[in-house]
Amino acid sequence: MLKLHNTLTRTKEEFKPIHKGKVGFYTCGPTVYDYIHIGNIKSYMTADTLRRYLSYLGYEVKHIKNITDVGHLTEDDIAQGDSGEDKLEKKALTEKKSPAEVARFYENYFREAEQAINILPAHFFPRATAHIPQMIKIITGLIEKGFAYEKNGNVFFSVRKFSDYGKLSGNTLEKLKVGARLEEHPDKKDPWDFALWLRAPKEHLMKFNSPWSIGYPGWHIECSAMSSEYLGDTFDIHTGGEDNIFPHHEAEIAQSECFSGKKFVNYWLHTRLLLIDGVKMSKSKGNFYRLDDILKKGYDAMALRILILSSHYRSQMNFTWDSMDQAKSNFQKITAWVSNLQNIATDAPDKEPEISFTHIYRKRFEEAMDDDLNTPLALSVVYDLITETNKLLSEDKLSPTTAKEILTFWDKINKVFGLIISTYTLKAKKAHFKLTGGDVNFSINKNEELPEEITKLAQKRIEAKLSKDFVMADKLRKEIESLGYSMEDLKDNNYLIKKQ
Ligand SMILES: [Zn+2]
Repeated sequence: MLKLHNTLTRTKEEFKPIHKGKVGFYTCGPTVYDYIHIGNIKSYMTADTLRRYLSYLGYEVKHIKNITDVGHLTEDDIAQGDSGEDKLEKKALTEKKSPAEVARFYENYFREAEQAINILPAHFFPRATAHIPQMIKIITGLIEKGFAYEKNGNVFFSVRKFSDYGKLSGNTLEKLKVGARLEEHPDKKDPWDFALWLRAPKEHLMKFNSPWSIGYPGWHIECSAMSSEYLGDTFDIHTGGEDNIFPHHEAEIAQSECFSGKKFVNYWLHTRLLLIDGVKMSKSKGNFYRLDDILKKGYDAMALRILILSSHYRSQMNFTWDSMDQAKSNFQKITAWVSNLQNIATDAPDKEPEISFTHIYRKRFEEAMDDDLNTPLALSVVYDLITETNKLLSEDKLSPTTAKEILTFWDKINKVFGLIISTYTLKAKKAHFKLTGGDVNFSINKNEELPEEITKLAQKRIEAKLSKDFVMADKLRKEIESLGYSMEDLKDNNYLIKKQ
Protein backbone atom coordinates (compact mmCIF):
# COMPACT_ATOMS: atom_id res chain seq x y z
CA MET A 1 0.00 0.00 0.00
CA LEU A 2 1.58 3.25 -1.15
CA LYS A 3 1.74 6.00 1.44
CA LEU A 4 2.77 9.55 0.57
CA HIS A 5 3.55 12.47 2.84
CA ASN A 6 0.97 15.12 2.05
CA THR A 7 2.10 18.69 2.82
CA LEU A 8 -1.57 19.65 3.07
CA THR A 9 -2.28 17.35 6.04
CA ARG A 10 1.31 17.07 7.27
CA THR A 11 0.90 13.29 7.51
CA LYS A 12 1.66 10.18 5.50
CA GLU A 13 -1.55 9.12 3.80
CA GLU A 14 -2.54 6.10 1.81
CA PHE A 15 -2.61 7.05 -1.87
CA LYS A 16 -6.08 6.74 -3.38
CA PRO A 17 -6.51 8.00 -6.96
CA ILE A 18 -9.63 9.85 -8.08
CA HIS A 19 -10.12 7.45 -11.00
CA LYS A 20 -9.28 3.79 -10.46
CA GLY A 21 -5.94 2.84 -12.00
CA LYS A 22 -5.19 6.38 -13.21
CA VAL A 23 -3.17 9.27 -11.81
CA GLY A 24 -3.17 12.93 -12.87
CA PHE A 25 0.01 14.58 -11.81
CA TYR A 26 1.36 18.16 -12.13
CA THR A 27 4.89 19.39 -11.50
CA CYS A 28 5.97 23.02 -11.42
CA GLY A 29 8.58 23.22 -14.16
CA PRO A 30 11.38 25.69 -14.79
CA THR A 31 11.25 29.43 -15.36
CA VAL A 32 13.36 29.47 -18.47
CA TYR A 33 15.53 32.53 -18.05
CA ASP A 34 18.53 30.60 -16.69
CA TYR A 35 20.16 27.16 -16.56
CA ILE A 36 18.54 24.66 -14.25
CA HIS A 37 20.89 23.54 -11.46
CA ILE A 38 21.25 20.30 -9.53
CA GLY A 39 18.80 21.56 -6.88
CA ASN A 40 16.13 21.75 -9.60
CA ILE A 41 17.17 18.31 -10.81
CA LYS A 42 16.71 16.92 -7.30
CA SER A 43 13.16 18.25 -7.24
CA TYR A 44 12.34 16.93 -10.75
CA MET A 45 13.79 13.59 -9.75
CA THR A 46 11.32 13.30 -6.87
CA ALA A 47 8.51 13.69 -9.40
CA ASP A 48 10.27 11.23 -11.72
CA THR A 49 10.70 8.60 -9.01
CA LEU A 50 7.08 8.96 -7.96
CA ARG A 51 5.91 8.65 -11.54
CA ARG A 52 8.14 5.63 -12.16
CA TYR A 53 6.93 3.91 -9.01
CA LEU A 54 3.27 4.61 -9.82
CA SER A 55 3.87 2.95 -13.21
CA TYR A 56 5.61 0.04 -11.45
CA LEU A 57 2.44 -0.37 -9.38
CA GLY A 58 0.41 -0.50 -12.58
CA TYR A 59 -1.11 2.99 -12.65
CA GLU A 60 -1.60 4.83 -15.89
CA VAL A 61 0.03 8.19 -15.18
CA LYS A 62 -0.53 11.50 -16.95
CA HIS A 63 2.29 13.84 -16.03
CA ILE A 64 2.25 17.56 -16.86
CA LYS A 65 5.23 19.86 -16.30
CA ASN A 66 4.88 23.50 -17.25
CA ILE A 67 7.43 25.81 -18.83
CA THR A 68 7.25 29.31 -17.36
CA ASP A 69 8.30 31.40 -20.34
CA VAL A 70 6.85 34.64 -19.03
CA GLY A 71 9.35 35.75 -16.43
CA HIS A 72 7.50 35.75 -13.17
CA LEU A 73 8.02 38.75 -10.98
CA THR A 74 10.14 38.69 -7.91
CA GLU A 75 8.65 40.28 -4.83
CA ASP A 76 11.08 43.14 -5.27
CA ASP A 77 9.90 43.69 -8.82
CA ILE A 78 6.33 43.93 -7.62
CA ALA A 79 7.41 46.34 -4.91
CA GLN A 80 8.63 48.66 -7.63
CA GLY A 81 5.19 48.65 -9.20
CA ASP A 82 5.09 49.46 -12.87
CA SER A 83 8.84 49.84 -13.21
CA GLY A 84 9.40 46.16 -12.44
CA GLU A 85 11.01 44.26 -15.28
CA ASP A 86 10.63 40.54 -15.46
CA LYS A 87 13.54 38.14 -15.19
CA LEU A 88 13.22 36.86 -18.72
CA GLU A 89 13.24 40.34 -20.21
CA LYS A 90 16.24 41.31 -18.13
CA LYS A 91 18.12 38.32 -19.51
CA ALA A 92 16.99 39.12 -23.05
CA LEU A 93 18.44 42.61 -22.71
CA THR A 94 21.79 41.39 -21.34
CA GLU A 95 22.06 38.58 -23.91
CA LYS A 96 20.82 40.80 -26.76
CA LYS A 97 18.18 38.24 -27.73
CA SER A 98 14.42 38.33 -27.84
CA PRO A 99 12.63 36.98 -24.75
CA ALA A 100 11.35 34.08 -26.89
CA GLU A 101 14.90 33.18 -27.95
CA VAL A 102 16.10 33.27 -24.36
CA ALA A 103 13.17 31.09 -23.27
CA ARG A 104 13.73 28.46 -25.98
CA PHE A 105 17.46 28.30 -25.26
CA TYR A 106 17.01 27.57 -21.55
CA GLU A 107 14.05 25.30 -22.20
CA ASN A 108 16.26 23.21 -24.49
CA TYR A 109 18.96 23.09 -21.87
CA PHE A 110 16.42 21.92 -19.30
CA ARG A 111 15.10 19.21 -21.64
CA GLU A 112 18.63 17.99 -22.43
CA ALA A 113 19.64 17.91 -18.78
CA GLU A 114 16.52 15.91 -17.92
CA GLN A 115 17.29 13.48 -20.71
CA ALA A 116 20.92 13.10 -19.64
CA ILE A 117 19.95 12.10 -16.13
CA ASN A 118 17.15 9.93 -17.51
CA ILE A 119 14.18 11.82 -16.09
CA LEU A 120 11.20 10.60 -18.09
CA PRO A 121 9.80 13.44 -20.20
CA ALA A 122 6.42 14.70 -19.00
CA HIS A 123 3.54 13.73 -21.27
CA PHE A 124 3.13 17.40 -22.01
CA PHE A 125 5.21 20.52 -21.32
CA PRO A 126 2.70 23.40 -21.66
CA ARG A 127 4.21 26.85 -22.09
CA ALA A 128 2.71 29.77 -20.18
CA THR A 129 2.74 32.05 -23.25
CA ALA A 130 0.43 29.61 -25.04
CA HIS A 131 -2.16 29.68 -22.23
CA ILE A 132 -2.94 33.37 -21.75
CA PRO A 133 -6.64 32.93 -22.72
CA GLN A 134 -7.08 30.23 -20.03
CA MET A 135 -5.52 32.56 -17.46
CA ILE A 136 -7.77 35.45 -18.51
CA LYS A 137 -10.80 33.16 -18.15
CA ILE A 138 -9.92 32.31 -14.54
CA ILE A 139 -9.08 35.92 -13.63
CA THR A 140 -12.39 37.09 -15.14
CA GLY A 141 -14.25 34.46 -13.13
CA LEU A 142 -12.46 35.45 -9.92
CA ILE A 143 -13.41 39.12 -10.43
CA GLU A 144 -17.05 38.15 -11.13
CA LYS A 145 -17.19 36.05 -7.98
CA GLY A 146 -15.71 38.84 -5.91
CA PHE A 147 -12.39 37.14 -5.10
CA ALA A 148 -10.33 39.55 -7.18
CA TYR A 149 -10.38 43.28 -8.02
CA GLU A 150 -9.00 45.47 -10.73
CA LYS A 151 -7.39 48.88 -10.35
CA ASN A 152 -5.52 50.88 -13.01
CA GLY A 153 -5.25 47.84 -15.27
CA ASN A 154 -3.80 45.66 -12.51
CA VAL A 155 -5.72 42.75 -11.01
CA PHE A 156 -5.12 41.32 -7.54
CA PHE A 157 -6.45 38.35 -5.64
CA SER A 158 -8.06 39.40 -2.37
CA VAL A 159 -6.58 37.00 0.16
CA ARG A 160 -9.03 37.95 2.95
CA LYS A 161 -11.91 36.62 0.79
CA PHE A 162 -10.59 33.04 0.93
CA SER A 163 -11.05 31.64 4.42
CA ASP A 164 -8.85 28.59 3.71
CA TYR A 165 -5.85 30.74 2.82
CA GLY A 166 -2.79 29.34 4.62
CA LYS A 167 -3.98 25.72 4.77
CA LEU A 168 -0.95 24.44 2.86
CA SER A 169 1.85 26.58 4.25
CA GLY A 170 0.45 27.53 7.64
CA ASN A 171 0.78 31.19 6.63
CA THR A 172 -2.74 32.22 7.55
CA LEU A 173 -3.89 35.81 7.29
CA GLU A 174 -3.46 36.27 11.07
CA LYS A 175 0.16 35.21 10.81
CA LEU A 176 0.77 37.31 7.72
CA LYS A 177 -0.64 40.39 9.43
CA VAL A 178 1.95 40.27 12.18
CA GLY A 179 4.62 38.57 10.14
CA ALA A 180 7.13 39.07 7.41
CA ARG A 181 7.78 41.95 5.07
CA LEU A 182 5.18 42.09 2.34
CA GLU A 183 5.46 43.72 -1.01
CA GLU A 184 3.65 47.02 -1.43
CA HIS A 185 1.86 48.11 -4.55
CA PRO A 186 -0.13 51.34 -4.76
CA ASP A 187 -3.14 49.54 -6.27
CA LYS A 188 -3.37 46.77 -3.67
CA LYS A 189 -6.09 46.89 -1.04
CA ASP A 190 -4.11 44.68 1.37
CA PRO A 191 -0.37 44.12 1.33
CA TRP A 192 -0.81 40.29 1.32
CA ASP A 193 -2.92 40.32 -1.86
CA PHE A 194 -1.09 38.92 -4.86
CA ALA A 195 -1.04 39.88 -8.53
CA LEU A 196 -3.10 38.02 -11.13
CA TRP A 197 -2.48 40.50 -13.94
CA LEU A 198 -0.19 43.51 -14.21
CA ARG A 199 -0.26 46.40 -16.63
CA ALA A 200 2.91 46.49 -18.71
CA PRO A 201 5.02 49.63 -18.91
CA LYS A 202 5.66 50.89 -22.46
CA GLU A 203 9.19 49.46 -22.76
CA HIS A 204 8.03 46.00 -21.72
CA LEU A 205 8.66 43.47 -24.51
CA MET A 206 6.37 40.59 -23.52
CA LYS A 207 2.83 41.83 -23.22
CA PHE A 208 -0.59 40.50 -24.01
CA ASN A 209 -4.06 41.90 -24.53
CA SER A 210 -6.56 41.45 -21.73
CA PRO A 211 -9.86 43.04 -20.63
CA TRP A 212 -7.95 45.13 -18.06
CA SER A 213 -4.77 46.32 -19.78
CA ILE A 214 -2.02 45.33 -22.15
CA GLY A 215 0.05 43.47 -19.65
CA TYR A 216 1.23 40.11 -18.41
CA PRO A 217 0.06 37.47 -15.92
CA GLY A 218 1.26 36.91 -12.38
CA TRP A 219 3.30 33.77 -11.89
CA HIS A 220 0.84 31.78 -9.76
CA ILE A 221 -2.07 32.03 -12.19
CA GLU A 222 -0.04 30.21 -14.86
CA CYS A 223 0.00 26.95 -12.94
CA SER A 224 -3.69 27.16 -11.98
CA ALA A 225 -4.59 27.64 -15.65
CA MET A 226 -2.30 24.98 -17.11
CA SER A 227 -3.02 22.29 -14.53
CA SER A 228 -6.81 22.55 -14.91
CA GLU A 229 -6.48 22.68 -18.71
CA TYR A 230 -4.82 19.26 -18.84
CA LEU A 231 -5.89 17.54 -15.62
CA GLY A 232 -9.28 19.03 -14.72
CA ASP A 233 -10.41 21.13 -11.75
CA THR A 234 -9.41 18.46 -9.23
CA PHE A 235 -6.47 16.14 -9.74
CA ASP A 236 -4.40 13.68 -7.74
CA ILE A 237 -0.85 14.91 -7.18
CA HIS A 238 1.04 18.20 -7.37
CA THR A 239 4.80 18.34 -6.74
CA GLY A 240 7.42 21.04 -6.45
CA GLY A 241 10.36 22.23 -4.38
CA GLU A 242 9.74 23.24 -0.76
CA ASP A 243 10.38 26.85 -1.78
CA ASN A 244 7.20 26.60 -3.90
CA ILE A 245 4.94 25.98 -0.88
CA PHE A 246 4.61 29.69 -0.12
CA PRO A 247 3.53 31.82 -1.78
CA HIS A 248 3.28 29.91 -5.08
CA HIS A 249 1.28 26.79 -4.18
CA GLU A 250 -0.76 28.57 -1.51
CA ALA A 251 -1.78 31.06 -4.21
CA GLU A 252 -2.53 28.28 -6.72
CA ILE A 253 -4.94 26.70 -4.21
CA ALA A 254 -6.62 30.04 -3.51
CA GLN A 255 -7.16 30.88 -7.20
CA SER A 256 -8.23 27.42 -8.32
CA GLU A 257 -10.55 26.60 -5.44
CA CYS A 258 -12.25 30.02 -5.52
CA PHE A 259 -12.74 29.75 -9.27
CA SER A 260 -13.99 26.15 -9.49
CA GLY A 261 -15.58 25.79 -6.05
CA LYS A 262 -13.89 22.38 -5.81
CA LYS A 263 -10.85 20.95 -4.06
CA PHE A 264 -7.79 21.64 -6.23
CA VAL A 265 -5.31 18.84 -5.42
CA ASN A 266 -5.48 15.76 -3.19
CA TYR A 267 -1.77 15.15 -2.51
CA TRP A 268 0.98 17.78 -2.33
CA LEU A 269 4.58 16.55 -2.35
CA HIS A 270 7.51 18.88 -1.75
CA THR A 271 11.20 18.22 -2.13
CA ARG A 272 13.56 19.57 0.51
CA LEU A 273 16.11 22.03 -0.84
CA LEU A 274 19.65 20.90 -1.59
CA LEU A 275 22.71 22.15 0.29
CA ILE A 276 26.16 22.40 -1.28
CA ASP A 277 28.97 21.72 1.21
CA GLY A 278 26.52 22.50 4.00
CA VAL A 279 25.28 25.85 2.66
CA LYS A 280 22.37 26.97 0.50
CA MET A 281 23.11 27.32 -3.19
CA SER A 282 23.54 30.89 -4.33
CA LYS A 283 25.10 32.66 -7.27
CA SER A 284 27.10 34.98 -4.99
CA LYS A 285 28.77 32.00 -3.31
CA GLY A 286 29.58 30.45 -6.68
CA ASN A 287 28.23 27.09 -5.52
CA PHE A 288 25.49 26.94 -8.14
CA TYR A 289 26.30 23.61 -9.81
CA ARG A 290 24.75 22.50 -13.05
CA LEU A 291 24.71 18.99 -14.46
CA ASP A 292 27.45 19.84 -16.97
CA ASP A 293 29.73 21.05 -14.13
CA ILE A 294 29.50 17.51 -12.81
CA LEU A 295 29.97 15.84 -16.19
CA LYS A 296 32.99 18.06 -16.90
CA LYS A 297 34.68 16.62 -13.82
CA GLY A 298 34.40 13.20 -15.39
CA TYR A 299 31.39 11.89 -13.47
CA ASP A 300 28.63 9.96 -15.15
CA ALA A 301 25.17 11.54 -14.89
CA MET A 302 24.07 8.22 -13.39
CA ALA A 303 26.40 8.77 -10.41
CA LEU A 304 24.48 11.98 -9.65
CA ARG A 305 21.27 10.03 -10.06
CA ILE A 306 22.45 7.51 -7.46
CA LEU A 307 23.56 10.30 -5.14
CA ILE A 308 20.13 11.94 -5.26
CA LEU A 309 18.35 8.59 -4.78
CA SER A 310 20.61 7.94 -1.78
CA SER A 311 18.81 10.54 0.29
CA HIS A 312 15.09 10.75 0.96
CA TYR A 313 13.33 13.54 -0.95
CA ARG A 314 12.12 15.12 2.30
CA SER A 315 15.48 14.97 4.08
CA GLN A 316 18.22 17.53 3.75
CA MET A 317 20.70 16.38 1.14
CA ASN A 318 24.16 17.85 1.32
CA PHE A 319 26.09 17.72 -1.94
CA THR A 320 29.87 17.29 -1.60
CA TRP A 321 32.44 16.03 -4.09
CA ASP A 322 33.28 13.24 -1.61
CA SER A 323 29.66 12.10 -1.74
CA MET A 324 29.88 12.20 -5.56
CA ASP A 325 32.91 9.88 -5.37
CA GLN A 326 30.96 7.50 -3.15
CA ALA A 327 28.03 7.57 -5.58
CA LYS A 328 30.41 6.93 -8.48
CA SER A 329 31.81 3.89 -6.74
CA ASN A 330 28.29 2.62 -5.99
CA PHE A 331 27.40 3.02 -9.65
CA GLN A 332 30.51 1.07 -10.66
CA LYS A 333 29.56 -1.64 -8.17
CA ILE A 334 26.09 -1.97 -9.72
CA THR A 335 27.53 -1.91 -13.26
CA ALA A 336 30.06 -4.66 -12.52
CA TRP A 337 27.36 -6.73 -10.83
CA VAL A 338 25.00 -6.44 -13.81
CA SER A 339 27.86 -7.34 -16.20
CA ASN A 340 28.71 -10.43 -14.18
CA LEU A 341 25.08 -11.50 -14.07
CA GLN A 342 24.72 -10.97 -17.82
CA ASN A 343 27.69 -13.20 -18.50
CA ILE A 344 26.52 -15.98 -16.26
CA ALA A 345 22.91 -15.75 -17.43
CA THR A 346 23.97 -16.23 -21.08
CA ASP A 347 23.88 -19.98 -20.55
CA ALA A 348 20.59 -20.02 -18.63
CA PRO A 349 17.90 -22.40 -19.85
CA ASP A 350 14.51 -20.94 -20.67
CA LYS A 351 12.71 -21.95 -17.49
CA GLU A 352 11.68 -20.33 -14.26
CA PRO A 353 13.62 -21.35 -11.15
CA GLU A 354 11.73 -23.61 -8.74
CA ILE A 355 12.47 -21.46 -5.72
CA SER A 356 12.39 -17.70 -6.14
CA PHE A 357 15.68 -16.18 -5.07
CA THR A 358 14.53 -12.55 -5.34
CA HIS A 359 11.12 -12.86 -3.66
CA ILE A 360 12.25 -11.46 -0.31
CA TYR A 361 14.18 -8.64 -2.00
CA ARG A 362 11.12 -7.67 -4.00
CA LYS A 363 9.08 -7.48 -0.81
CA ARG A 364 11.70 -5.31 0.90
CA PHE A 365 12.00 -3.04 -2.16
CA GLU A 366 8.24 -2.48 -2.32
CA GLU A 367 7.96 -1.88 1.44
CA ALA A 368 10.65 0.80 1.17
CA MET A 369 9.06 2.52 -1.83
CA ASP A 370 5.54 2.24 -0.38
CA ASP A 371 6.77 4.17 2.64
CA ASP A 372 6.73 7.64 1.06
CA LEU A 373 9.28 6.70 -1.64
CA ASN A 374 12.12 5.71 0.68
CA THR A 375 14.73 5.44 -2.08
CA PRO A 376 17.79 5.17 0.21
CA LEU A 377 16.25 2.09 1.83
CA ALA A 378 15.26 0.69 -1.58
CA LEU A 379 18.86 1.12 -2.80
CA SER A 380 20.18 -0.64 0.31
CA VAL A 381 18.07 -3.65 -0.72
CA VAL A 382 19.99 -3.71 -4.01
CA TYR A 383 23.34 -3.45 -2.21
CA ASP A 384 22.33 -6.38 0.01
CA LEU A 385 21.41 -8.38 -3.07
CA ILE A 386 24.79 -7.55 -4.62
CA THR A 387 26.58 -8.74 -1.47
CA GLU A 388 24.68 -12.02 -1.46
CA THR A 389 25.18 -12.55 -5.20
CA ASN A 390 28.90 -11.84 -4.99
CA LYS A 391 29.26 -14.30 -2.12
CA LEU A 392 27.61 -17.01 -4.21
CA LEU A 393 29.81 -16.06 -7.16
CA SER A 394 32.98 -16.36 -5.13
CA GLU A 395 31.87 -19.81 -3.97
CA ASP A 396 30.98 -20.69 -7.56
CA LYS A 397 27.39 -21.37 -6.49
CA LEU A 398 25.47 -18.93 -8.69
CA SER A 399 23.57 -20.87 -11.34
CA PRO A 400 22.71 -19.33 -14.74
CA THR A 401 19.00 -19.74 -13.88
CA THR A 402 19.37 -17.73 -10.66
CA ALA A 403 21.53 -15.12 -12.42
CA LYS A 404 18.79 -14.73 -15.01
CA GLU A 405 16.10 -14.39 -12.36
CA ILE A 406 18.12 -11.71 -10.53
CA LEU A 407 18.61 -9.84 -13.82
CA THR A 408 14.88 -9.94 -14.57
CA PHE A 409 14.17 -8.61 -11.08
CA TRP A 410 16.82 -5.91 -11.50
CA ASP A 411 15.35 -4.81 -14.84
CA LYS A 412 11.95 -4.43 -13.20
CA ILE A 413 13.10 -2.39 -10.20
CA ASN A 414 15.56 -0.41 -12.30
CA LYS A 415 12.57 1.00 -14.16
CA VAL A 416 12.01 2.82 -10.85
CA PHE A 417 15.66 3.74 -10.17
CA GLY A 418 16.10 4.76 -13.82
CA LEU A 419 19.80 3.95 -14.04
CA ILE A 420 21.29 3.62 -17.51
CA ILE A 421 23.85 0.88 -17.16
CA SER A 422 26.31 1.40 -19.99
CA THR A 423 28.35 -1.75 -20.11
CA TYR A 424 29.82 -3.72 -22.87
CA THR A 425 31.06 -7.08 -21.82
CA LEU A 426 33.34 -9.24 -23.87
CA LYS A 427 33.06 -12.85 -22.99
CA ALA A 428 36.08 -14.92 -23.85
CA LYS A 429 36.12 -18.68 -24.04
CA LYS A 430 39.57 -19.61 -25.26
CA ALA A 431 39.68 -18.23 -28.79
CA HIS A 432 35.98 -17.52 -29.14
CA PHE A 433 34.51 -14.12 -28.44
CA LYS A 434 31.00 -13.09 -27.80
CA LEU A 435 29.99 -9.49 -27.60
CA THR A 436 26.96 -8.57 -25.54
CA GLY A 437 25.77 -5.31 -24.13
CA GLY A 438 23.48 -2.32 -24.43
CA ASP A 439 23.58 1.37 -25.11
CA VAL A 440 26.33 3.64 -23.96
CA ASN A 441 24.99 6.86 -22.64
CA PHE A 442 27.67 8.95 -21.09
CA SER A 443 26.95 12.56 -21.73
CA ILE A 444 24.22 14.91 -22.79
CA ASN A 445 22.52 13.85 -26.01
CA LYS A 446 25.00 11.18 -26.98
CA ASN A 447 24.27 7.59 -27.76
CA GLU A 448 27.32 5.86 -29.09
CA GLU A 449 28.16 2.31 -29.77
CA LEU A 450 31.45 0.71 -28.90
CA PRO A 451 33.70 1.51 -31.89
CA GLU A 452 34.94 -1.43 -33.89
CA GLU A 453 38.52 -0.33 -33.33
CA ILE A 454 38.11 -0.72 -29.57
CA THR A 455 36.38 -4.08 -29.96
CA LYS A 456 39.29 -5.37 -32.06
CA LEU A 457 41.92 -4.09 -29.62
CA ALA A 458 39.99 -5.68 -26.74
CA GLN A 459 39.83 -9.01 -28.54
CA LYS A 460 43.56 -8.86 -29.30
CA ARG A 461 44.26 -8.08 -25.66
CA ILE A 462 42.20 -11.04 -24.47
CA GLU A 463 44.06 -13.29 -26.92
CA ALA A 464 47.35 -11.94 -25.56
CA LYS A 465 46.24 -12.68 -22.02
CA LEU A 466 45.10 -16.17 -22.89
CA SER A 467 48.48 -16.87 -24.45
CA LYS A 468 50.10 -15.36 -21.33
CA ASP A 469 51.75 -12.53 -23.28
CA PHE A 470 51.26 -10.04 -20.48
CA VAL A 471 53.63 -7.44 -21.96
CA MET A 472 51.48 -7.29 -25.09
CA ALA A 473 48.26 -7.32 -23.01
CA ASP A 474 49.49 -4.34 -21.02
CA LYS A 475 50.50 -2.48 -24.19
CA LEU A 476 47.03 -3.04 -25.68
CA ARG A 477 45.32 -1.90 -22.48
CA LYS A 478 47.27 1.38 -22.70
CA GLU A 479 46.35 1.74 -26.36
CA ILE A 480 42.66 1.33 -25.48
CA GLU A 481 43.03 3.95 -22.75
CA SER A 482 44.72 6.36 -25.14
CA LEU A 483 41.56 6.17 -27.25
CA GLY A 484 39.42 7.24 -24.31
CA TYR A 485 38.17 3.87 -23.07
CA SER A 486 38.96 1.72 -20.07
CA MET A 487 39.08 -2.03 -19.93
CA GLU A 488 38.50 -3.60 -16.58
CA ASP A 489 39.28 -7.27 -15.96
CA LEU A 490 36.48 -8.93 -14.03
CA LYS A 491 36.27 -12.50 -12.80
CA ASP A 492 36.38 -15.56 -15.05
CA ASN A 493 37.59 -13.96 -18.27
CA ASN A 494 34.92 -11.29 -18.23
CA TYR A 495 35.82 -7.76 -19.18
CA LEU A 496 34.12 -4.44 -18.76
CA ILE A 497 34.75 -1.72 -21.32
CA LYS A 498 33.67 1.81 -20.63
CA LYS A 499 34.07 5.19 -22.22
CA GLN A 500 36.20 7.40 -19.96
ZN1 LIG B 1 3.79 26.22 -10.45
